[in-house]
Amino acid sequence: MPYKFTFDLSKIPRFVFKEIATTSYHRGMHKQVAKTAREMIRKFKIQEATGLNLYDAVTLLQDLIETQTVNLIEREKFVKTKRRALFLPHCSRKFMDGRCKSTFDSNIPSFVCAHCSTDCLVENATTFAQKKGYDVYVLPGGSCIPKILKAKNYEGIVGVACGSEAKAGGDILKTMNVVGQNIPLIKNGCTNTAFNMDTLYSIL
Ligand code: SF4
Ligand code: SF4
Repeated sequence: MPYKFTFDLSKIPRFVFKEIATTSYHRGMHKQVAKTAREMIRKFKIQEATGLNLYDAVTLLQDLIETQTVNLIEREKFVKTKRRALFLPHCSRKFMDGRCKSTFDSNIPSFVCAHCSTDCLVENATTFAQKKGYDVYVLPGGSCIPKILKAKNYEGIVGVACGSEAKAGGDILKTMNVVGQNIPLIKNGCTNTAFNMDTLYSIL
């Protein structure tokens, strides 16, 4: 389910998220994120940078902390995995209409990038991941994940998604015994969304 609010975290430096997750993890704060989220929001001036109200900022930060904490906990297992795939969200394509030249394979189901634009995040991520040996899927939604995992024997999945989708996807991976790493969207809205390519490079 998408968030009922939009956010754009692109103005917040990347190290902030790493520090939030690392601090939460090491202090055991991920177990009581609701209590600590307000403190983090004040410390990193997230409300001022995003324009979100406090309730939405808390929701967003809780999800970010939870998913980034899972990254830290699962990292060691993930680096030992051999068969891996990257799940990208269709909302990060440069175009969401006919200008996107991808094809859609309903059997998988996934968009298949046709590399029509070199300044498209999905194109950049696809090209990099395939060179690293990952299979790449550009998903229309998280409901496609079980079908892909049942058909392929992946051990590790890197998923790019907004926090709410990442949490749902993480639950699916857990039940299917697959190790996951998440790359959060820094701008949501279900169209023209964005993620950080440097984060993707380091996670992959
Ligand atoms: S580069 Fe790929 S994903 Fe991006 S708009 Fe073109 S075909 Fe679509
Ligand atoms: S922002 Fe993207 S990943 Fe999140 S719910 Fe919307 S389409 Fe899905």
